Amino acid sequence: MNNPTQVICIAVPVPIYGYFDYLPAENTLIEDYFSGMRVLVQFGHRELVGIVIGRQAETTTPTNKLKPITHLFDEPTAIPESILNLLQWAATYYCHPLGDCVQTALPSALRQKKPLTEIKVIKWNRTEKKFTGKQNATKQQAILKTIAEQESGIWQDSLKAIGYTTTQLKTLEKAGYLTSTTFDPLTATAKLQPEPNSIKLNEAQKEVIQKASVHLNGFHVSLLQGITGSGKTEVYIEIVRHILGQGKQALILIPEINLTPQTLKRFQTQLAIPIGFIHSGMSSREKFTTWSLARQGSAKVIIGTRSSIFTPFKNLGIIIVDEEHDASYKQIDGFKYSARDLAVKRGQLENCKVILGSATPSLESVYNAQQEKYEWLRLNERAGAGQTPDISLIDIRSRPLQNGCSKPLLDQIKSEIEQNNQVIIFQNRRGFSPTLLCEACGWIAHCKHCDARLTIHNHPPHLLCHHCNYKQVIPRECGSCNSQHISPLGTGTERIEYGLKEYFPNTKVIRFDRDTIKKQSHMEQLIKDINHGEPCLLIGTQMLAKGHDFHNVTLVAIIDADTSFFSADFRAIERSAQLLLQVAGRSGRGKKKGRVLIQTKLPEHPLFESIVKSDYTTLSEIELIDRKTCELPPFSKMLSIRAESKSQADALQALHTLNSELFQRIPTNLNIEISGPIEANMARKSGIYRSYLHIFTANLALRAAILKQLPALLTANHKRNTKLTIDVDPTDYV
Ligand code: ADP
Ligand code: ZN
Ligand code: ZN
Repeated sequence: MNNPTQVICIAVPVPIYGYFDYLPAENTLIEDYFSGMRVLVQFGHRELVGIVIGRQAETTTPTNKLKPITHLFDEPTAIPESILNLLQWAATYYCHPLGDCVQTALPSALRQKKPLTEIKVIKWNRTEKKFTGKQNATKQQAILKTIAEQESGIWQDSLKAIGYTTTQLKTLEKAGYLTSTTFDPLTATAKLQPEPNSIKLNEAQKEVIQKASVHLNGFHVSLLQGITGSGKTEVYIEIVRHILGQGKQALILIPEINLTPQTLKRFQTQLAIPIGFIHSGMSSREKFTTWSLARQGSAKVIIGTRSSIFTPFKNLGIIIVDEEHDASYKQIDGFKYSARDLAVKRGQLENCKVILGSATPSLESVYNAQQEKYEWLRLNERAGAGQTPDISLIDIRSRPLQNGCSKPLLDQIKSEIEQNNQVIIFQNRRGFSPTLLCEACGWIAHCKHCDARLTIHNHPPHLLCHHCNYKQVIPRECGSCNSQHISPLGTGTERIEYGLKEYFPNTKVIRFDRDTIKKQSHMEQLIKDINHGEPCLLIGTQMLAKGHDFHNVTLVAIIDADTSFFSADFRAIERSAQLLLQVAGRSGRGKKKGRVLIQTKLPEHPLFESIVKSDYTTLSEIELIDRKTCELPPFSKMLSIRAESKSQADALQALHTLNSELFQRIPTNLNIEISGPIEANMARKSGIYRSYLHIFTANLALRAAILKQLPALLTANHKRNTKLTIDVDPTDYV
């Protein structure tokens, strides 16, 4: 029985499906509530910030259970309709509780229990000046101490929250003990001097721009497939210029990699306007400030990583997703959205242009382009001075390796160094060696908490689990037979660095991975040094491989190309090809022609036929035929359900139960393919066992029908010791 009372539906930040119905707060009318407004509600024993979704004429909640809203914030609507629509769509598509979507997607300033007024953000820092005030001024000394402890300064609201007043702070500022700075995302970037564009676009770029510009006035998606260095960024900048000319705004998404300062600078100097920048290293206040400026329309261009897809705009004209194939666009925990896919959806909802760009686009996007859902634009030549590098293989099946490198490779590196060139040596594995092996009995050092080997690190010496960060000392003898003949097997970046330093004692060797580079500023400094051009050897993981524009690298060596070919992931070949071509693309970006050498034990692997020709198009066509034969995405729609538990049996059992209950509710003759329940490849991670149920459906409607059943089933099957989560269009599921 529905209760004929008018109620307000609220999304509450809890991992529970659905909305919750409330009555208007005291002294307010139901008519005062509009979607996107923030309210405070009592939820269980807690008071939470909720978002108004809408009003309803009746409710299923019994009258005696209906509570009034505690407070309606006096502020402009917090979440604009466009963003709320996108989030609501995403909550259904990804089958995730809306309250949690809002919570993950939006700046955390919206979650705080106070009105959104201040968008000026003031930060306080301690100066060098020694305190010479009265010794009994303990309060003042305490403030100074608190601020001095934070090297990067403290936000004014945080200081107010712990009880200090603005007057106290200002007094100390006057006395010279403190300085304050106001964060303004737009002036922060405005310091960069605009430069007139010295680049003359080539014919291919002009053609692409001309084609893409035909459809700037409504929803339209282009896939820009341009080889590395073909000048895609210049194309984006030019199209954004058109959009700005129409008085509209632009959103540019970039992957979660550290090349952002370079990208930002190029846009900034060429468009000669301040650009808002959103990235994971920002504080929530900084994010919110940038967010607000975009919403007001004063930030015309926003560049940001994954979650910036939820930035509101006054008048959005284009969304560009650079390196659209990049795995970091998909969030793999909690609200598991794909920012790339949401970019297309948002383009449709807000009726604007979308460009997906990459040298190696995802097969999903290639397929959409083949189907003419997306316009397919190409740039097949390098734009600047550089030419496409020559790629060749080194067969290492019968060659001894010295710390990962074969003799022919070392000879080639030597020859480049002698010509004063720079060389990149790519190995996508940190540490000295991935395995510690007993030569007497075959024992291998494993992690206590994961089904994984411990990696040997030498700076300082320790064994480390790359999955849970468990650390231990390197044992002197075998953990099984006590033999002392234990040795590292295989090669990581540390080992290559060690080997090359021995082999090339007079050459600068720089290692570029998460162990050596912990700070953005360090990375920027290194890139500057490298671009001075002295000969050097750069050893690195994908941190080095993606996006950078080094002009003096003439040889890229890939140490171990095959390891990624045989993963259980059906995207293994696609991913490997993307990475190999991205890495290869770092070679020969300046005046000198570049080369790429790939060490492999599988020189006959069909993948290499396309790789040596840098022919991603043929490669993706072949791969798509395979996917079609096997009815894998994009030819089917995938959904995974993951069970996590301390007990392996419980995890599997939960999925068996869910599976059978689900199929009591869905006609079995439908075009649905189930695989599992199966254990994850690494069944135990951080002490938790993981299993999967993978469901493939012939189309979206079928999958949506299954998803519709899931919230109720998950709720009904909820057990304390087993966690079930849904992943729609999963990318991380083995
Ligand atoms: P992509 O994004 O496709 O990898 P970029 O836009 O970074 O390519 O361009 C690669 C290099 O070529 C950059 O150094 C850029 O300045 C240069 N470049 C781009 N377009 C041109 C052009 N038309 N003429 C000369 N140089 C260009
Ligand atoms: Zn042993
Ligand atoms: Zn571990």
